[in-house]
Amino acid sequence: MNQTPSAPAKIELSHVTHLYLSTTRAFMAVQDINLRVEEGEFICMVGPSGCGKTTLLSLMAGLELPTAGKVSIDGTPVRGTSRQVGYMLQQDYLFNWRSIEDNVFLGLDIQGIRSRETEQYALHLLDEMELSDVRKASPMQLSGGMRQRVALVRTLACQPDVLLLDEPFSALDYQTKLKLEDLIFSTLRRHKKTAILVTHDLSESIAMGDRIYIFSRNPGRVSSEIAIPPAIRDSLPFDARNQDGFQDLFHRVWKEMEVVSDAAKGN
Ligand code: ADP
Ligand code: MG
Repeated sequence: MNQTPSAPAKIELSHVTHLYLSTTRAFMAVQDINLRVEEGEFICMVGPSGCGKTTLLSLMAGLELPTAGKVSIDGTPVRGTSRQVGYMLQQDYLFNWRSIEDNVFLGLDIQGIRSRETEQYALHLLDEMELSDVRKASPMQLSGGMRQRVALVRTLACQPDVLLLDEPFSALDYQTKLKLEDLIFSTLRRHKKTAILVTHDLSESIAMGDRIYIFSRNPGRVSSEIAIPPAIRDSLPFDARNQDGFQDLFHRVWKEMEVVSDAAKGN
């Protein structure tokens, strides 16, 4: 056979089970999760609250180590946090007593990679995110959408090649969220990042993702996986919503969610 062996996935979870332990009990958050994310893919994860989405991101970020199974990035098992993986949460964790640019540089300080060059790169990202004018402002002066953009710049400034986004738009008003979806989508594409977005907004998952994983809960498991067709996948999220086939996909994801939500109620 002259087949070349397939390259390792950017992210691979193989038979991953994770238990949270307390002094009195063990709780199985996710069970036997298998998933594979290729380099440059944009993956969305949806599922009822408590199905283990945040747990899976924590495992990929190396903040938790799986009770069983294997989490690897580029074929190497994840053993702790690394610069390669950037993690952005719903809450932006900006420090109000620091300026916007100092909040952005903080990520570089923490990683020990602050230099003239990395500072310049961070400032370039601020510019790309249309934040140059507020460089010297305090986060207190910024809207929710602007604060999330700053948080994203802080994450991207460290040049991770994987981005984990845990419901980053959920606290924003609808219009801000739609605009931010387009901006983040195009920025991540341009920088060729691999991204995983957790969202409870089904239309957002279709508009932004190349593929969607739907999870059921108690314990969290992969219930189904949906590939988004190219016409929708390659459009900006705002335009994707008007593409042929979008509504059909929405109904499909909606139905799948009904199944996993009913199953969750039965527990
Ligand atoms: P999701 O992000 O999908 O809402 P989580 O990953 O936060 O789900 O949680 C999955 C399950 O694990 C939930 O039942 C939750 O209560 C439980 N859980 C999450 N974190 C902990 C923890 N640190 N200790 C104990 N149980 C936890
Ligand atoms: Mg969560």
